Amino acid sequence: MPADFVSNALCEAAMRDRASFTPSCAQWRFGGFLGERIDTVLRARILDPQAREAILGEAVEAFRKRVDDRLAPNAGFWQGEFWGKYSLAAIAAQRYTGDADLRDSLIRAADDLLATQDPSGYIGTYFDSSFVLSREGKINWNVWCRKYTLWGLLEIYDMAGEARHLHAARRLMDHLMSEVGPGKVEIVRTGVLAGLPSTSLLTPVVMLYRRTADERYLKYAEYIVEQWSRGVGGPPDILRKGLAGAPVHEWFPEPEKWAKSYEFISCVEGLVDMYRVTGREDYRRCAVAIYDNLRRWERSPAGGISFNDKFVGSNRLINVLSEICDAVYWSRLSFQLLLLTGEPRYADEIERTLCNALLAAASPDGRWGLRRLRFSHEHVPAPQHCRLEHHQCCVDNLPRGLMLAADAALLADARGVYVALYGAGSGEAALPSGRRMRVSIEGRYPDDGAVAVRLRLSQPETFALRLRVPEWSRRTQASGPDGARLEARPGEWLSVEREWRDGDCVALEFDMRPRLVRFDDRALDAGDPLVQLSIGQWAGMRNMLPGAPPHTLEPEEARPHAPALLVERGPILLARDERLGGGGSIYESLPAAAAAEPPRLEPIEAPPGIHAAYKAGFAGMDRAIRLCDFASAGNGWDRRKGEFNVWMTVRENGT
Ligand SMILES: [Zn+2]
Repeated sequence: MPADFVSNALCEAAMRDRASFTPSCAQWRFGGFLGERIDTVLRARILDPQAREAILGEAVEAFRKRVDDRLAPNAGFWQGEFWGKYSLAAIAAQRYTGDADLRDSLIRAADDLLATQDPSGYIGTYFDSSFVLSREGKINWNVWCRKYTLWGLLEIYDMAGEARHLHAARRLMDHLMSEVGPGKVEIVRTGVLAGLPSTSLLTPVVMLYRRTADERYLKYAEYIVEQWSRGVGGPPDILRKGLAGAPVHEWFPEPEKWAKSYEFISCVEGLVDMYRVTGREDYRRCAVAIYDNLRRWERSPAGGISFNDKFVGSNRLINVLSEICDAVYWSRLSFQLLLLTGEPRYADEIERTLCNALLAAASPDGRWGLRRLRFSHEHVPAPQHCRLEHHQCCVDNLPRGLMLAADAALLADARGVYVALYGAGSGEAALPSGRRMRVSIEGRYPDDGAVAVRLRLSQPETFALRLRVPEWSRRTQASGPDGARLEARPGEWLSVEREWRDGDCVALEFDMRPRLVRFDDRALDAGDPLVQLSIGQWAGMRNMLPGAPPHTLEPEEARPHAPALLVERGPILLARDERLGGGGSIYESLPAAAAAEPPRLEPIEAPPGIHAAYKAGFAGMDRAIRLCDFASAGNGWDRRKGEFNVWMTVRENGT
């Protein structure tokens, strides 16, 4: 594969992979509705020079001031994560847009950061680099912050190709290894949450090893994996427990005290990286087993995961409350496993998370975002973090999730080209011959199921074009350039191997009939302490925007633990929203007959601020209910105007 098609670190890793599927990411740009939403976020926080300089400037300033260990007695904050997180998002946006000014300003900020490096190699936001253990039960994020600095420097190096950034990354890691590691402070004991944040350093450590071939870093990565099982009988014990196959919330008592979702997933992502460099099958099996368990127990229909940031068996709870970073890292792990296995089900997950949780997470103007997603009433906007003006963890992470979808949309390997996502747009992929091909997708997907995939080639070439058929599309119509019908099976790649010519087109019509999803209230007793705890946490999580009017959700407002239904259409989850009108409370129950079959949907004109709206005719009801796309529901950012609701409870028979 030509080197210029290596567009991100994950694809770069995949290409050296031991697995049979070794794709590279192609250059993809979304148009249409998805493209507009993504561009809004990129413009507001990354492409706008003024906003960017303020955001980057504040992030670097934290490394000059080094106050993370002085903001509160005995505690350590996380101002140090923001330069790395924001830079990773902006580097991905730079690949996506090709913006030269953005590239220059990221390099400038990285060089400003390098100017804060001590002779010892330390770059950090803690005055005392060795303050890595939690004191008196208080928080400490010192190693975690350096994870993002190391990662940011390595991707800056990939983007700029300047040796000084790699050199600085090595010195940073060497310094950390002089304080934390074998014979020093054990890494799993550092920080908080059973060492999950600190040990998720694994990902950039493997990246550093790949870029330097220095065996010391591989040894350190192996040490991190061993550290998970260091406290035998206690968390996190990721490798052993993951291989044993039980759901994460059953690994240890009180998962709400340790199983912090995105830090955990970040560790599993590191395990996939370790599989790539060592070929150890148990690493791969463990990552896939954990993923499958999380999908079953923690992933909400919106593509977010966990409840209140922890793996507690969240799918048993009707009231959803999930961190945006969790959705971003769920997408990352889905992408890792897509690249590793080539199985299209992982792309189904990326699409679900993108179209629902991630789009819902951005404010309409793209300047800010949510801290937590709910499934009813109102979402929870993000508060600024660590006394900074421009940063919050989820807001800085959100564009990484959006950009990841662009990386996943179009893939290529030695055998052919893979179309994994269907939002309108276009991109360029490398063909097996090394020549390039332009691929464009036309249509109004996901609002409409009709999609045309058009190829532009400089000369005819034989290769396999593989098109993802989503698992939810039970009946897919597909036809090739000659009009011949193609067989498309749900959950598989539709593979067409032939001689392709310039202008050839494959037409697809996905099955957009609405589907019902049932909430199983029997998975957990209504009186279970977890249900009660979740309701308290759901209500207690209030709007944290500065200057927001005082308002608290009451536990009585939570959705009752009862049988309920929701409606999906294509990859989109539908919800009720007060702004849609149409009569009736958005919380009113459906009659039992409504559960018998999916409703009939009829598109209607959407009110301002809402992307797509429908009238839904349920069995047993003489009045239609109005629904809209989940990402629009409750996105008014104007509290108490536009409450929304996803799960519709179902009344008992005969009532
Ligand atoms: Zn977050």
